[in-house]
Amino acid sequence: MVLRRSLFRAGVRYRLGIRFGERFTIDVALTRPKIAVFVDGCFWHGCPQHGRTGFSGPNAALWVNKLSATRERDLRATRIALRHGWRVLRFWECEIAHDVGRCVGLILATRRSSDLSRP
Ligand SMILES: [Zn+2]
Repeated sequence: MVLRRSLFRAGVRYRLGIRFGERFTIDVALTRPKIAVFVDGCFWHGCPQHGRTGFSGPNAALWVNKLSATRERDLRATRIALRHGWRVLRFWECEIAHDVGRCVGLILATRRSSDLSRP
């Protein structure tokens, strides 16, 4: 994955798939300081640019429900991660594809500001 490769190249070490709360998983975790990075696929997580709306056909309601359940789960995951003391960053997969450098920059800036705020 391009984000992980870029982070590694920037000297950031991370862990994958750390579990927390009720069966949630952090995509990319910087464990010290606790920074949780979630990468949301545009389709399933409903990216404003590429997420699909306006389903039609016999399964339309099913799709709408499924995608909105995913979004609610994302919100719950963010809330619970915050409660567990993680700082949370979420990126759309298209943001990463478009400008991975910016995403890595945000992660580094978050890490720097955590360093500064450490007692
Ligand atoms: Zn997108």
